[in-house]
Amino acid sequence: MNDANGSAVLQTVGLKRSFTQGGQTIDVLRGVDLAVGPGEIVALLGPSGSGKSTLLQAVGLLEGGFEGSIRVDGVEVAKLDSAGRTETRRDRMGFIYQFHHLLPDFTAIENVVLPQLIHGADRPTAEARAEELLTGLGLGGRLTHRPNQLSGGEQQRVAVARALANRPALVLADEPTGNLDEATADIVFAEFLRLVRGEGSAALVATHNERLAARMDRVVRLHEGVLE
Ligand code: ADP
Ligand code: MG
Repeated sequence: MNDANGSAVLQTVGLKRSFTQGGQTIDVLRGVDLAVGPGEIVALLGPSGSGKSTLLQAVGLLEGGFEGSIRVDGVEVAKLDSAGRTETRRDRMGFIYQFHHLLPDFTAIENVVLPQLIHGADRPTAEARAEELLTGLGLGGRLTHRPNQLSGGEQQRVAVARALANRPALVLADEPTGNLDEATADIVFAEFLRLVRGEGSAALVATHNERLAARMDRVVRLHEGVLE
């Protein structure tokens, strides 16, 4: 690619996704054009039901069924087989969801170590990285707590550390603080932004919260299936 978006970490062109349910088709994404540059933090704003999660699932390579182009680091995803998509997810992306999805039987530090071991890191390196990330998020005293021994805000901080563990080029976050009370959400969100900026990752962050969106580098709005 030698166009203006050739260096984009993520680019979609004409992305479409419809769902057919009970004989009725809903066109959720009607041609989404989006480019996220290296290190850029983009808010994906839209009311509930506007298709934010659908868009994140498509660009997170979790689901097929879409039309149009998705490029990750310039590579057309449609040209990848299932192993290639798994590799792209593992090597280039980090994910944060509204609910932490931590492994319940593992400690905080193990939850951050595991994705690094899967990625090919050796254990001492992975543990050092996990400890550094968790300590930076104020969890130095919670390393060996299991998820059910942590508060909601602490659980989301571990999820943030896990998402950043492999130094992804792109973080995809779907309402990452949507399950927290407002005061905790503000603090965790500020920490999330500081960490992502410090790591130099790009991020696409779905939210319906205008105030959180305003803290990011750029805001795109999903309205009637396209970005305004
Ligand atoms: P948001 O994340 O912005 O709240 P979603 O992407 O979850 O929105 O949903 C957008 C629309 O797509 C909603 O109307 C929802 O009902 C519909 N939708 C999402 N996933 C499915 C599915 N698997 N099957 C049918 N409809 C779906
Ligand atoms: Mg959603």
